[in-house]
Amino acid sequence: MGMNTNRLLVISELRDGMLRKVALETLSAARSCAAGDAVVEAAIVCGAGLESELQAAAAQLAGYGASRVYAVAHDDLAQPTAEQYIAALKPLVDRLSPGVVLFGHTPVGRDAAPAIAEFLGAGTGQISDIVAVERRGDEVLFTRPIYAGKAMETRTAAAGPLVVTVRPNNIAAEPLEQTLHAELELVPYAPPAEPRVRVLHRSQKPAGRADLSEAGVIVSGGRGVKSAEGFRPLYELAEALCGAVGASRGACDAGYCDYALQIGQTGKVVTPDVYIACGISGAIQHLAGMSASKVIVAVNKDPEAPIFQVADYGIVADLFDVVPKLTALLREASAG
Ligand SMILES: Cc1cc2nc3c(=O)[nH]c(=O)nc-3n(C[C@H](O)[C@H](O)[C@H](O)COP(=O)(O)OP(=O)(O)OC[C@H]3O[C@@H](n4cnc5c(N)ncnc54)[C@H](O)[C@@H]3O)c2cc1C
Repeated sequence: MGMNTNRLLVISELRDGMLRKVALETLSAARSCAAGDAVVEAAIVCGAGLESELQAAAAQLAGYGASRVYAVAHDDLAQPTAEQYIAALKPLVDRLSPGVVLFGHTPVGRDAAPAIAEFLGAGTGQISDIVAVERRGDEVLFTRPIYAGKAMETRTAAAGPLVVTVRPNNIAAEPLEQTLHAELELVPYAPPAEPRVRVLHRSQKPAGRADLSEAGVIVSGGRGVKSAEGFRPLYELAEALCGAVGASRGACDAGYCDYALQIGQTGKVVTPDVYIACGISGAIQHLAGMSASKVIVAVNKDPEAPIFQVADYGIVADLFDVVPKLTALLREASAG
């Protein structure tokens, strides 16, 4: 007996009232798992007072294949703790008994997925961080990176409920040819009886910069950038490419930039269309976070730097010479 793919529930995250891109990618992943006549539904957990945003999100989710959208909206859930988020989802999961629950492999999804798997009970499996999914007859094949991206494994799931998390930026969000109309249903929220976590303080990351995990282009700097000031040309190049700036741990440890920018085994895992590594040697722990990028460009003074082994395009040069030239060329091209 294979997994039950007759009813699938996609947990869709909003950010600033808008659906995150990974929500639509996860919905496409759900459709790839689904049996022919399966019911694919979506759930949103969010703060109260977002009626028009929820209507817009439901319409968008319908366009990508959700036949019904459940929203748990409550004041307490504007910036929920994992505990609140999970408490919001449990009654819904209990009521719907989906065969598969899918989350984005985001900080929230990573927190909530195993708790929901545990809640679904004995025999529930979890497959995390998938980058591809394919249905072959009655079998569904999930592909995920292992050993920090050095290898890929393909798995199937046995009978019983399954929880899946989907890595952002890997599975294309495919709209339906004919849009469905998704009913939006508000679901009540019961806060956890004895909360174990209380948020004391939140600090906001600098606004206005593209989110690394969803950026199409990332310009990343390492110890070769030499100072915080040295990152300026990288920001200019990123801006010319409508991309985001990332960093190696070497650059973060040296205090050139915030740890929020760190890419690698102990930082963020990114898969942009283009990753431009500037002054980064290419240590295995850095490669773990970026080697699945579609096109890798490396700028390094040292022709022997290991980054060149994974790069599609290599520039052996001083980054302070090359990066401003690239920016100038791009600005010229977009002006002309
Ligand atoms: C447990 C563990 C976890 C780790 N996790 C991570 C992680 O998540 N992410 C991560 O990045 N690292 C991680 N590291 C650290 C990793 O091993 C490396 O130390 C780090 O990635 C090196 O950073 P770097 O490439 O910026 O610096 P370096 O290795 O010092 O490389 C600097 C490069 O810049 C080049 N360069 C210098 N000047 C210029 C110039 N003007 N123009 C062009 N090129 C120039 C040099 O040729 C050199 O190749 C981890 C290490 C451990 C032990």
